[in-house]
Formats: sequence, structure tokens, C-alpha cells
Amino acid sequence: MFYWLLSVVRRQRIRRGWQKWSSARSGASVAEAHSVALPTQAQVVICGGGIMGTSVAYHLSKMGWKDIVLLEQGRLAAGSTRFCAGILSTARHLTIEQKMADYSNKLYHQLEQETGIQTGYVRTGSIFLAQTQDRLISLKRINSRLNVIGIPSEIISPKKVAELHPLLNVHDLVGAMHVPEDAMVSSADVALALATAASQNGVQIYDRTSVLHVIVKKGQVTGVETDKGQIQCQYFVNCAGQLLWILTEESIFGTGRVASCLGALRRTRNQFSLRARTSWRFRIYRKTGIILSPC
Ligand SMILES: Cc1cc2nc3c(=O)[nH]c(=O)nc-3n(C[C@H](O)[C@H](O)[C@H](O)COP(=O)(O)OP(=O)(O)OC[C@H]3O[C@@H](n4cnc5c(N)ncnc54)[C@H](O)[C@@H]3O)c2cc1C
Repeated sequence: MFYWLLSVVRRQRIRRGWQKWSSARSGASVAEAHSVALPTQAQVVICGGGIMGTSVAYHLSKMGWKDIVLLEQGRLAAGSTRFCAGILSTARHLTIEQKMADYSNKLYHQLEQETGIQTGYVRTGSIFLAQTQDRLISLKRINSRLNVIGIPSEIISPKKVAELHPLLNVHDLVGAMHVPEDAMVSSADVALALATAASQNGVQIYDRTSVLHVIVKKGQVTGVETDKGQIQCQYFVNCAGQLLWILTEESIFGTGRVASCLGALRRTRNQFSLRARTSWRFRIYRKTGIILSPC
């Protein structure tokens, strides 16, 4: 399925003229892909071509940022994003997460129309089951918060659950929460759609390109060292997924852990947030030029 997707995107790319994406996926050999020269400077370098990196690229380019380079060591959307179940649920405990999930839901809903790439978006709705009164109280709290910010949801009886999902055994249920606008997507497709849109907005995407080190001088990011050369940049966005800590730890904060980095970074001012995927957010720290995710 995934490889089928890639071939679809490849066709899309050829049709849309993704000139700047140096992907070996385009049919070029690895050697050819390696021969594509990287730019020597950029305003923003994003490391990682999963849902996070492509979403950051998409949003920054939409917000009018120029001169953005996205680097992916393997292939786009082939990290955790590839294995994601694609459940897009707003039923979160924190209001900020609910709002982000709602934003993602709306964004992904229209992304196919915007990019022409199928994202597998299906508005399935979701049901959260309660077998105990405690669980039901917890669901009621989430339900109230969702309703306050305008996301439709309701507490329903076991009988209603059986009507919505006849295959469920509802005999041990005390209730449930129904969120009718929750959805499913293919996260790899969403990432590729975001990359397509970002590329159309001028983002330069290079896969099979690894970030080796982040160059920091006097506490400021000045560039990145890759396996294909150096890029000078003002901002570095670490979207390396589970490998995020390697770049952060080794290159920027010595032996510090990501959590302590986040604590340190939070103290910087002049930051703003971007929303990306259901439960993720980015903080951009203008002072240090570092963007860390997740936070
Ligand atoms: C089985 C499973 C099911 C899931 N189900 C859901 C779900 O239903 N709903 C949901 O919201 N979330 C779900 N998730 C979580 C979701 O998939 C992840 O949170 C999300 O994909 C993370 O995206 P990412 O871009 O941060 O990481 P990734 O997709 O891993 O992307 C990081 C990218 O960075 C690249 N990279 C790393 N280091 C470097 C480097 N030095 N240079 C260049 N590139 C580099 C990697 O190659 C990779 O492609 C699930 C996860 C799994 C594993």
C-alpha cells in the first residue's frame, strides 16, 4: 500500500513539477540523488520528513517564510509516520490538545482538495467506552471541555452504543462518549500531501540527506552539517522523531536530556506556536533559532 502511495505521489510530483525535491524516489539512482547539490544557505532548515517536519514546512511556507530546506535521511514519511494508525481524535484531556486535534481534523479534511493527493480521510466518528463510573466521570469531563470549544460530542447510553456499533458487547458498559466528527487518515499520505503543498510553496526538500550536527556559535544556531555538505541557516527545526534527542543532546546541550532542554528553551521569549498533528505542537524560539518538538 505504502509503495503504491509513493508511486502515486511520484506521479503527482512529476505532474506538478517538484523540481526541487532531489528524491531517489523519482526513479533516479541513489548515486544520482547524491549528486544533487544542497544549497549552502537557508533561512530555516528542518530535519526530518515525517508528519512533523512536513507539517512545519507546510505551515511555515503558508505563513510566508521563505528559503526553507527540509532534510530527510531516508525517504519522506517512512519513519514512525508510516506506521501510524491514523486515528484523528479530539478526545484529549487538555484543551490545547483538543484544539490542535480539531485544527488537524479540519486541515486534513481539506488537504486532499488543496493538493490533489488522497489522504484517506474518513469521518468515522469515535466512541469511548466506560465500564466503570470513574471512567464515565472522566469522559464527562472531556465531553464538557469539547463542547465548550465547540466540538460536538455527547455522553450516550449503552443502548445507543449498540445502535452505533451493533457488533459491540455492551452488557458491561455504564455509558460512553460519542465524538461524531473524529476521523481516520493515512498519515503517510497526509505527510506526502503536506510535502507536496510545501514544495509548491517553495520549500526545498531533499531526502537521503542526513543532518550530522547542528552548528551552534555563542548559543545561536548558525548552520547544519549534513552528509552532503554544510548549510548555513538562521533557524533549525528538529523534527527527527525518536532520533530527535541525538541532535539535541550532542550538538546543542552537551549531555542534557530533551526534557531539560525544553525547560531551558521555554524560558526564551518571542516564541510562537504552530499546530501540526493531533497531539503535537511546535515552539519556535526566535532568540536561539531552535525549534523543538514535541513539547
Ligand atoms: C504503531 C503506531 C501507531 C500510531 N498510531 C497513531 C494514531 O493513531 N494517531 C496519532 O496521532 N499518532 C499515532 N502514532 C504516533 C505517530 O505515528 C507519531 O507521533 C508521528 O508519526 C511522529 O512523527 P514524526 O514526524 O515526529 O516522526 P517520524 O515519522 O519518525 O519522522 C522523523 C523523520 O526524521 C528523520 N530523521 C531522523 N534523524 C535524522 C537526521 N539526523 N537527518 C535527517 N533526517 C532524520 C527520520 O528518518 C524520519 O523520517 C502511532 C505510532 C505508531 C508507531
